[in-house]
Amino acid sequence: NFDSPSVLSMHDAGVHFDGVKAVDGVSLSVSRGEVLGLIGPNGSGKTTTLNLLSGMLRPTVGAVMLDDSDLSRLSMRKRVHAGVVRTYQSGRVFERLTVFENVEVAALGAGLRRGAARAAARSTLTQLGLDDVADLPADSLTAGRIRTTAIARALAAQPRFLLLDEPAAGQNETEAVQLIESIRGFAREHGIGVLLVEHDMPVVMGTCDRLHVLDSGRTVIEGEPQRVRKDPQVIEIYFGK
Ligand code: ADP
Repeated sequence: NFDSPSVLSMHDAGVHFDGVKAVDGVSLSVSRGEVLGLIGPNGSGKTTTLNLLSGMLRPTVGAVMLDDSDLSRLSMRKRVHAGVVRTYQSGRVFERLTVFENVEVAALGAGLRRGAARAAARSTLTQLGLDDVADLPADSLTAGRIRTTAIARALAAQPRFLLLDEPAAGQNETEAVQLIESIRGFAREHGIGVLLVEHDMPVVMGTCDRLHVLDSGRTVIEGEPQRVRKDPQVIEIYFGK
């Protein structure tokens, strides 16, 4: 049922750049209401995986699916329409608009009427802890809060699946955990499937339902954080050398 898809997935997907296998036969899935963390060292294929899911890139082999619908050849715009929304590391916002206006505009852009857009903006800002900066221009915020505003914009568009690129970067650990906890609350409440790429291990360990670990474009292991952290190959990658 395309009206309420419940699983976003990738099947044996691969992308090659001039002989470099950036992603090499990776399968993963995220269900609505759960948070999947995608981790791995630099160059392991995390960003490429996000690009495959969001439609920035097409897989050389394999497929991206939304339940039984093949998204592999769909543009980013069409995927956004199907409810798959991505944020960027930089956190894209309109600098001259206030934080509230930024989020309201995103909700309007997603087709909400003005009243509904204002209500969505208000509740999203509250849930992400941005109430105290709601009326400030976005360009007066810290990098961390600009990033949070970008996430609020994505959430106000009421996605079914949200792809987050390093949401915790630029935030201290307390802020990072708070942010991801609130994203988690939001995901549960609204049935959004979240896939997040994040470097900060304590943050992902504490906030993700499952972790998917990549190395050199391949899957190392996937499972619950407590199991993943004990995996010898993961220990080697993160704590060896
Ligand atoms: P990560 O996000 O885990 O750091 P990436 O997905 O960015 O990893 O990159 C995976 C591999 O693919 C790296 O070896 C990187 O150099 C290579 N790569 C990524 N994008 C391109 C591109 N557009 N052209 C050539 N090589 C690329």
